[in-house]
Amino acid sequence: MPQMSDIPAGECLLCGGTLTGVHCLGHWSEYGGGGGFWFSALCQTCDIDFRLSIRNGIFATWRPDAPEASELTSIVGEDGLAALTAKFKRYATFGPKWQSFLNRRRDGDEVWRFASANGLHNGFAIVRCGLPVSGFRVLGFISAGVLP
Ligand SMILES: [Zn+2]
Repeated sequence: MPQMSDIPAGECLLCGGTLTGVHCLGHWSEYGGGGGFWFSALCQTCDIDFRLSIRNGIFATWRPDAPEASELTSIVGEDGLAALTAKFKRYATFGPKWQSFLNRRRDGDEVWRFASANGLHNGFAIVRCGLPVSGFRVLGFISAGVLP
């Protein structure tokens, strides 16, 4: 596992502040012996989680724990959000997660649907000033039954 002192300090893409609370989220292994680690950190000013991956010893860069802008498909209006909230309330797992996802919005933030490029996830993203800053992910194979 990489030493904490090796982890590059992260800077928030929105406010330029220093990310805090860096910790290891876990690791993965790949066929052929490769693998890597995930680290997480927070911009307290913006309330945005960031992730950093280290694959086979190579550090990626800190980026928001959110879908890519290219994965966004359509914006969700207030009516759509109300309908989703009513739907997710019926699920013990999705209801509270959805509520805490929505609670991270700030004035002017938008909610968009997204579909991941690898087809594994669908869901929703909070978009601030054109940048996805938070994600609500649903595994592709469940989303057909859950997402309206
Ligand atoms: Zn920030």
